Amino acid sequence: MFNLVIFGPPGAGKGTQSEKIIDKYNLVHLSTGDMFRSHITNDTELGKKVKEILADGKLVPDSITISMLEEEVQKNPNAKGFIFDGFPRTVPQAEALDAFLEGKGFKVDLVLQLDVTQDVIKARIAERQKVSGRADDDAEKLLKRIDEYFDKTIHVLPYYQNQGKVTTINGVGEIETIFGQISEAIDAKY
Ligand code: ADP
Repeated sequence: MFNLVIFGPPGAGKGTQSEKIIDKYNLVHLSTGDMFRSHITNDTELGKKVKEILADGKLVPDSITISMLEEEVQKNPNAKGFIFDGFPRTVPQAEALDAFLEGKGFKVDLVLQLDVTQDVIKARIAERQKVSGRADDDAEKLLKRIDEYFDKTIHVLPYYQNQGKVTTINGVGEIETIFGQISEAIDAKY
């Protein structure tokens, strides 16, 4: 079992790099953002609850997020490992993930931090919105998401640094170059 957390601000390239990692390492990709969007598209009870929150660029409450994530892990009993993308986004989520994995005899093996500047994030998301049509990609909602990142999510980093698990990757550059560095970081621990 190999469990990887991919960490970085909105627009850091977590989704893009996760796709490449699952192809190469055969891990199961768990993106909480994708899960919420799928609930919203399918108009489930959970989707109804979180729709406004996502549209506003705010974080979904921990209790909802953690139980949804744990359920998805349980659906994949034969996984070789997981990539957690967009989770944990708060310290309580990180603590819950540790407790949950420990209960199964597993742990987070590596945290990849994708390092990008705010200017790059804003430029990438402006581009992405042209094709994604994501309501939370508009300029005002994006600022809210960046605020949430620097207010709550950034504290997840020292949590994992204290455990000696973080490798920082420069997230600015060619997709393949970044992926090369990610592969090296994974191979060192895999
Ligand atoms: P991005 O990384 O581009 O900001 P995501 O697709 O990961 O976007 O997440 C989109 C939205 O889903 C977030 O802005 C938030 O509302 C919600 N969300 C995703 N993951 C979490 C989480 N772990 N905790 C709380 N809310 C979350």
